[in-house]
Amino acid sequence: MAATLKIWGCRGSLPTPGTDTITYGGNTSCVEVVLEGEAALVLDAGTGIRALGFDLVARNKRQIHLFLTHLHLDHLEGLRFFAPLWDERVTLEIWGPRSPEVSLRDRILRSFSPPLFPLDFRDVPARVTFHDLPGEPWRAEGITLFADLVLHPGPTVGFRLETDGSAFAYLPDHEPALAGIEGRSLDWISAGALAHGADLVLHDAQYFEDEYDARIGWGHSSVADAVAFCQAIDAGRLVLFHHEPEHSDRELEQLEARARELGGGLEPELAYEGMTLELA
Ligand SMILES: [Zn+2]
Ligand SMILES: [Zn+2]
Repeated sequence: MAATLKIWGCRGSLPTPGTDTITYGGNTSCVEVVLEGEAALVLDAGTGIRALGFDLVARNKRQIHLFLTHLHLDHLEGLRFFAPLWDERVTLEIWGPRSPEVSLRDRILRSFSPPLFPLDFRDVPARVTFHDLPGEPWRAEGITLFADLVLHPGPTVGFRLETDGSAFAYLPDHEPALAGIEGRSLDWISAGALAHGADLVLHDAQYFEDEYDARIGWGHSSVADAVAFCQAIDAGRLVLFHHEPEHSDRELEQLEARARELGGGLEPELAYEGMTLELA
């Protein structure tokens, strides 16, 4: 069956409201995989999840599955302001990468405690459960979702979503260049096997090449590395994601032009808030 994705936030690192970021948006990472039934499927809980929450309430979605790539604040900070969390009729299942030190639950609960937040997680009315990743593939409505560890500081996963006819990879925070991309077999490229042959890839493209040279090891990709990764894994289409907070709409368009110079058949394009993407 087909699937539709909707982008609710695609900014990296920090929200960037303001007149220079209106076209592509200032909210941090959040993508919805639109399901037809009662359930909802959400990737990441950046500030984009706040507006999604009101939309889910209006659509009477009360079984929510939230998959977190990792717990850096830009992927988690919208959760406390996610309206369904404050509704006792809601069931919220949260998946995120396991850590050898502290449970997923306890790491998320840190953000629901003083001095970061006035309320305690015990005050949350929704029924919330936690699940470690990677684990068994998750399935619903003809969709299968896989997770695997990827190169980024701290435990971090990427996702692959498959329908009957196509595959989509979500890699918002990813620095595959650290381990090497060109000339390597798929198993030796970070997320190579996970994303292989995906028809659509949402990939970290935070920096121009010269910016990246000063930020190696920060966990993000240059536009050239995003293109090289997608060429190596034989992707069909690249959507540039996790926009650098310092980049205005105009600079992002220069980044897109650079991606197209490099990108051959990938025809890279910028993610923007409100963008919908169809999967066959
Ligand atoms: Zn991020
Ligand atoms: Zn991160």
